[in-house]
Amino acid sequence: MVSEPEFQQAYYEIVSSVKDSTLFEKFPQYEKVLPVVSVPERIIQFRVTWENDKGEQEVAQGYRVQFNSAKGPYKGGLRFHPSVNLSILKFLGFEQIFKNALTGLDMGGGKGGLCVDLKGKSDNEIRRICYAFMRELSKHIGKDTDVPAGDIGVGGREIGYLFGAYRSYKNSWEGVLTGKGLNWGGSLIRPEATGYGLVYYTQAMIDYATNGKESFEGKRVTISGSGNVAQYAALKVIELGGVVVSLSDSQGCIVSETGITLEQINDIAAAKIHFKSLKEIVGEYATFGENKVKYIAGARPWTHVSDVDIALPCATQNEVSGDEAKSLVASGVKFVAEGANMGSTPEAISVFETARSTAATAGDAVWFGPPKAANLGGVAVSGLEMAQNSQKVTWTSERVDQELKKIMINCFNDCIQAAQEYATEKNTKILPSLVKGANIASFVMVADAMLDQGDVF
Ligand code: NDP
Repeated sequence: MVSEPEFQQAYYEIVSSVKDSTLFEKFPQYEKVLPVVSVPERIIQFRVTWENDKGEQEVAQGYRVQFNSAKGPYKGGLRFHPSVNLSILKFLGFEQIFKNALTGLDMGGGKGGLCVDLKGKSDNEIRRICYAFMRELSKHIGKDTDVPAGDIGVGGREIGYLFGAYRSYKNSWEGVLTGKGLNWGGSLIRPEATGYGLVYYTQAMIDYATNGKESFEGKRVTISGSGNVAQYAALKVIELGGVVVSLSDSQGCIVSETGITLEQINDIAAAKIHFKSLKEIVGEYATFGENKVKYIAGARPWTHVSDVDIALPCATQNEVSGDEAKSLVASGVKFVAEGANMGSTPEAISVFETARSTAATAGDAVWFGPPKAANLGGVAVSGLEMAQNSQKVTWTSERVDQELKKIMINCFNDCIQAAQEYATEKNTKILPSLVKGANIASFVMVADAMLDQGDVF
């Protein structure tokens, strides 16, 4: 019986990459790391209870999975969503260990959250929930121990309340959360970082595959989600001359053949803070009157777009099925990079990877950028926020953006190098598997730290 399906899916992905390579043959000591790294160092589960606006008590389950600290303090987001459970947080925490290693910064891996639906809750309720959550979490985190950030349902507003709660419970102003407000310890470019970084990583893929001959200019890009990651990915795509043909939310998707505009994305960003659905936004905002988009209820965009070059899943896990992946390939997609964690199902990844490894030329291939590499921009800038906090300085947005670009490109090169060194399949020299490259490169970094420190013997 599969009791933790999401975690087992994430674990299996790493295991199959490293086992299906020459890594253990060349360095047998790494095999001993697998069973140890798959068990979290610590899991904290706790009751969170607050008073709602009607004066009634509400209760929910809170979690923090402190998965691995060999490479630095536990680091990873907090998700507030009704789907939160231990399997999902273990999958996200496990993925985070390897993603954080690929940033090249000193960060371990963790993830946490609360099983709650914030939709329809007032600002006051959200503040009380954040304070109640932090009442317990504050006992287990600290700037050198565990530094959470946001994730689904936890944006700037929630980070503000969580930070205020930590400060008041601990009587300490410290860089214990990232994604903070700009005038109280936050880093410039942190809100943009995951979406921007995703586009920089995809740009590195395009450069490599086309020998620097092509860019985002004129490319048609299908994006899912309409939250933080999707919004900034879409804005960067538009800035680089691409056409954003879709966005989505949990209720449906919007498709525009001529391209969703910057103004429309800004309206979506403003409305999403108030939990409006795309359906409501399209009906209510003037910008959608001028440049009409098609709203499709209950659908993801993948089968409703045509002539696309690039797909960026940016909503949630398992949101591209095998059939949807086939439909994207049939529509002409050449590059897929995941803003969402585990956005594609294993069947979808297999469709993309097959379309790469069996292609006759790089021009015919479909190339897949896995989330632990493609979406690490957010946690990378969180790492830069921690560095700025400890030095008590604020870098300019240009400097942070430059560092972010550098980190994304270094990560891309690490993925390529590891795949070329250890992957064995056909086409490794033309377009290496970035899934294998990311998994092997990051596994080696984490394994070395664990072996050096005696976590594995
Ligand atoms: P947000 O909460 O800002 O946005 C999430 C988006 O996904 C919303 O459009 C939401 O729709 C949609 N969504 C949520 N659940 C579902 C579902 N079950 N089916 C379809 N759509 C859904 O989150 P983020 O943008 O921050 O995160 C998006 C993804 O990116 C997640 O996988 C997250 O783990 C990953 N990520 C985020 C990082 C960050 O820095 N924020 C860093 C790295 C990865 P609705 O508006 O209707 O709720």
